[in-house]
Amino acid sequence: MTTLTADALPLRATLPVAGPLLTVDLHAVAANTRHFASLASGELMAVVKADAFGHGARVVAETALANGAAWLGVTSVQEALSLRYAGIAAPVLSWLNAVDADFGTAIDREVELAVPSVEHLDAIAQAASQTGRTARVHLHADLGMARDGAPADLWPTLCRLAATAERHRLVRVTGVMGHLACADQPDHPSNVAAAKAFDGAIAVATIFGLRPHLRHVAATAATITDVTTHHDLCRVGAGLFGIDPSGTTRLAPALTLRAPVVSVREVRAGTPVGYGHRHVTDRRTVLALLPLGYADGIPRSSHGYVFVHGRRCPVVGTVSMDQTVVDVGDLGVQPGDVATVFGPGYDGEPTAADWAIWADTIEHDIVTGIGPRVRRWTR
Ligand SMILES: *Cc1c(COP(=O)(O)O)cnc(C)c1O
Repeated sequence: MTTLTADALPLRATLPVAGPLLTVDLHAVAANTRHFASLASGELMAVVKADAFGHGARVVAETALANGAAWLGVTSVQEALSLRYAGIAAPVLSWLNAVDADFGTAIDREVELAVPSVEHLDAIAQAASQTGRTARVHLHADLGMARDGAPADLWPTLCRLAATAERHRLVRVTGVMGHLACADQPDHPSNVAAAKAFDGAIAVATIFGLRPHLRHVAATAATITDVTTHHDLCRVGAGLFGIDPSGTTRLAPALTLRAPVVSVREVRAGTPVGYGHRHVTDRRTVLALLPLGYADGIPRSSHGYVFVHGRRCPVVGTVSMDQTVVDVGDLGVQPGDVATVFGPGYDGEPTAADWAIWADTIEHDIVTGIGPRVRRWTR
């Protein structure tokens, strides 16, 4: 197993702000980016959608570009334009938009656009003709997940009309893209079918005279497990943030979520805790209150642990919107002590991966779910 750890800077024992704090370690993002840049056969696209998976789109984009990424990828035109307004000039691809998105501004600011349907092609061509510039587009083929991308039966028409729009200089087809449904299971038979579907999509595009120089399907899992999917570009999101859906590489997580203990109370055995009294203490113990809850990204339904005084202490009772109660036993916890909800795990603290298991979800859901009230500190 490959193991990547950032040259972990120690965190200060006290929080530099009052209240919950999310620390974003860009050294980790940089280390992960360099790993994927060296792994990718072609170019590396840093996927910075959803505010870079909750890590901060602008700072992550700049870090990734400085460490080997050539491209940035986002979902919406709005996300792409935010990068432009932040002064980032690198190539950006936006792949999921409604037909009434602001394609004109996107074309004007040299944002490349994925085209999953004839309706999108029409809207983009019209915006191009109004701005007087050629839109650079990546035709998006559905490789068998019935989500975004053009279904196989509509693909030839999309290619034919794109070729027509190219002749009118309304669009230039720079790329053809697809996405894999089961890349985190390298032996899943759908991967072979998807690879064949992608080859077929490229062949059809070529027949219609298109000459895309960027063919791309791989996200994090495929980039790690299957070099035959790399083509000209790997689109890596999760991996930059220390998440490996294939479970084969230990990458460097970048987030640490901490909160101060607001108050502590000693309670007797048999004390019911929180809404619905879903927990009742089984012994005399000490409960500590943390000022963050499900509105801040602590999964409501989980039975998690936080790290206090070097120990994992259980969350007890139902997590509230803004509050979480932790059983800290006889650790001598005082108001103002710092609890780590999750971190990279280097010191034994829970990780986002642990929380994902406790909440029956995936790490992506944990890291993108930290609410706007939590202060961010990037280093
Ligand atoms: C989110 C996304 C990616 C990145 O996937 P990861 O598994 O996070 O690397 C790549 N391509 C598309 C189309 C996506 O939506």
